[in-house]
Formats: sequence, structure tokens, C-alpha cells
Amino acid sequence: MSAITVRVPAKVNLQLAVGPLREDGYHDLVNVFHAVSLFDEVTAAEPVDGDVAAAPLRVRVEGDHTGQVPVSDDNLAVRAARALAERAGRSYRADLLIRKSIPVAGGMAGGSADAAAALVACNELWGLGLPVEDLMEIAADIGSDVPFALLGGTAVGTGRGERLAPLETGGVFHWVFALADGGLSTPRVYGECDRLREEAGVTAPHPTASEELLAALREGDAKALGQALSNDLEPAALSLRPSLVDTLAAGREHGALGALVSGSGPTCAFLVESAERAAELAAVIGDVDGCRSAITAYGPVPGATVAG
Ligand code: ATP
Repeated sequence: MSAITVRVPAKVNLQLAVGPLREDGYHDLVNVFHAVSLFDEVTAAEPVDGDVAAAPLRVRVEGDHTGQVPVSDDNLAVRAARALAERAGRSYRADLLIRKSIPVAGGMAGGSADAAAALVACNELWGLGLPVEDLMEIAADIGSDVPFALLGGTAVGTGRGERLAPLETGGVFHWVFALADGGLSTPRVYGECDRLREEAGVTAPHPTASEELLAALREGDAKALGQALSNDLEPAALSLRPSLVDTLAAGREHGALGALVSGSGPTCAFLVESAERAAELAAVIGDVDGCRSAITAYGPVPGATVAG
């Protein structure tokens, strides 16, 4: 095969419980990940130019609002491909093309998704045949959201979010995502969360998974799930981007079963009863000030998958 294309989904956090700041600078998390039908595509191809002096791994990025995505060795897809080559103990070459639909710095783990897709694509292109367990280990070294992008579905992550247990879900859930102009930096949002807690004199409890949320997922009960959605980073994201208050309020006013900031934001997620309700709500939300566009999606969907 001279080119492999992998499709990889975005995630929304159904619960993001953030514990106190640890000595190592991380937070203990309980992170319920849910993969939704908004996809990036990563193609890994054998270089055709035969220029042996060129960088062994090169990357191009296509799509809207991709200006912030590095096309250097810092790109998470390049880092993933390099880590895979190192694990295999040889030097390998590939040209990577990322077609982005997942909003950049939007709290939907687009960079982590591209890293997971690059692992699957290069494993195939280079004929390495590494099992998914090995890819999961490499993924965890790259970033705490990368293993979930390999796995997909719905899963609960603990530790820094990288220790994953898949969750059974009793149905399909329908979503609207409000995309904002410009991103929010994840470290900055965590920093603001710590600052707000310190200012209020609050010590966060040790994070635990919500029983209501897990039961709602098992039963496929969208109404109960809507009430159980929670994100401890939301106050920090709203503090840094106050316009999101209006976006969330508009979704609630127009009948969303639940509304929350996705991960570190600024994307907002709205749970609704059906695909029809999603299309109706997206039309309303897309017109709210501060919202770039609104898109519909459903979940859960599989993780990084070879598409051709
Ligand atoms: P998360 O939800 O995991 O916190 P995010 O969705 O908010 O992340 P990303 O889109 O993953 O944010 O990107 C965060 C930053 O990572 C970008 O601003 C960019 O500089 C860098 N980055 C590196 N590689 C990529 C990539 N392939 N796609 C997007 N961003 C990348």
C-alpha cells in the first residue's frame, strides 16, 4: 500500500471532574469520554519525490481555521508517527495529510485525534502490525486524550485521563455543537480553574464518576443524561470567554436536554432527543452572537478506523 487514510472522531466530555492540583502539576481526573460523528482524516503516504535529504516525516493540513496547527515536528500527528518509528527501532518515511473538520483548540481533542489516526495509518503503511495494546501505550505517552481517540465509543478515563475503561451505552445520543471563533488554550483553562478555586477558598474533592450519569448511559436515557452532564472546567472557560454564557443559555431556552462546555472549551455541546431536534436547534444556535457555526452529530462512534 502506498497510502492509508484513517478517519478519527472528536470527543465530548460527558463528565469532567477535576481533582486538586497535584505536586507534579497535573490534576487527577474522572473523564467520561464520548466519541461523536465529527471526523478528521489523516492520510499517510510513501514520499514520492525520493529526496533522501528531506525530513523523514512531513505534514500538510487542510481545512478551515487551521492556521494555529503547526506543520513542524510539533504537530501531534508527526510526534505520534515518530514515536511509532522509534518503537519499531527503524527510521521510516511518510508524508502526512490532515484534513481537519474538528475545531482547532476547541476542547474536542482534535490534535489528539490526529495523533491516534497517524499511529493507525503509519502502523499499516509501514507494515508493522503492532497490536492495538502497543498503540495504546505509545498513545498514552503522547497525550492523555490520545488513547481514547484510538478506542472511541464511550469510556471513563482516570488518572490524568489516560487509564481507560470502555462503557456500554444503551442507545444513540444526538448532539449540537456550537463552534466559537478562536480557541482556548487547555493549560490556560486549567490555570484559571485553579485560580478560581483558590480565590473562593475551595479545595476540590477527589473526583468520582457520577452514578446517575453511568446509569443514564447504560439505559440510553437521554433526558437523564442531559441532567447528569457536568464539567468542572466550565466556570474557568466561562470566566475566560464570557460570551459562552449566552450560547449555553440559548440552547437551554430552546429545549436542549443538557448543555455544557466541551472539555476546556470554547465549543459548547447540547444534547437533544433526536436528529430532527438537533437540526432545529443548530439553526437557532448558529445565529447566537459569538457562535461561528453550529453542527449536528451523534455518538457513540468507533475510534480511529482505516477508511481506505
Ligand atoms: P483538548 O480537548 O485535548 O484539550 P483541544 O481540542 O482544545 O484539545 P487541539 O485542537 O487538540 O485542542 O489543539 C491544541 C493545540 O495543539 C493547537 O493550538 C495546536 O497548536 C497544537 N496542535 C498540534 N498538533 C495539532 C493537530 N494535529 N491538530 C490540532 N492542533 C494541533
